[in-house]
Amino acid sequence: MNKPLILVVEDDPSIRNLITTTLRLHEYRFLTAASGSGAILEASSHNPDVVLLDLGLPDMDGVEVIQRIRTWSNMPIIVISARSDDTDKIEALDAGADDYLTKPFSVEELLARLRVTQRRLALMQEQSSPIFVNGELTIDLPAGCAYLSGEPLHLTPMEYKLLCLLARNVGKVLTHTYITQKVWGHSDDSDIASLRVFMATLRKKLEQGPGAPQYIQTHIGVGYRMLRVE
Ligand code: CA
Repeated sequence: MNKPLILVVEDDPSIRNLITTTLRLHEYRFLTAASGSGAILEASSHNPDVVLLDLGLPDMDGVEVIQRIRTWSNMPIIVISARSDDTDKIEALDAGADDYLTKPFSVEELLARLRVTQRRLALMQEQSSPIFVNGELTIDLPAGCAYLSGEPLHLTPMEYKLLCLLARNVGKVLTHTYITQKVWGHSDDSDIASLRVFMATLRKKLEQGPGAPQYIQTHIGVGYRMLRVE
C-alpha cells in the first residue's frame, strides 16, 4: 500500500519544517505550499490523501481555499488555526473542513488527527453496505433501527436522525450550525439549545457511563463528532 500523501499548506517556514519533519519521521509522503493559490494548484494536480491547511495565508483566506477545493473534491482537510477564536474554526468546518488543530499543537496531536482522518477514510470505503457498524453500535439504515451490543436502542425519531447524521460523518467534527441546518433546516439560538437537549438524551442511551463518552465527543462551543470505536 502506498504511504499516504499529505499536502502541507503553511506560510510560516518554521512550522512547515516542524510538520514535514514529523511526517518524514512517520513515513508519510508530503507536498508543501506556502500560499492559497499554491495549495489549490497542488491539491488539483496531486490529489493528496489529506490536506493540512493553515487558515492565515498571505494571498487568500484558508476558508476560501476550502471552498475552492470542495467544488471538485471531498479530500479530507484538517485546518490549522493560529487563532484560538472559535469563529474561525467554525467557519472552516462549515466550509467543509473535516477537523482542526489549534496552534501551538504537539506532534502527538498532529499524528492523532492524521490517524483519525485515515480511519475515517478506511471506514467510508468499507461502508458501502446499508448496515453501519462502529464498535458495539449497529445501525440498520433500511430498517431505521439502531442497536447497541445487539440490543435495540429505543430512540425518538429526532435522536435517530441525529445519530445517523453523526454516523454518516464518523470522524468528522460537525458544527452546531451544520447539524441544526441538516436536521431542522434552519439554525437559530433556540435550535442550538434544542440540539443540546436531544444530544444529551441520545448520549444517555448510547454511552456506557457518564463522563466517559466513547461514541460522541463534544467540542465545546463548536459541535460534536462521532468517534471511530475500535
Ligand atoms: Ca500563516
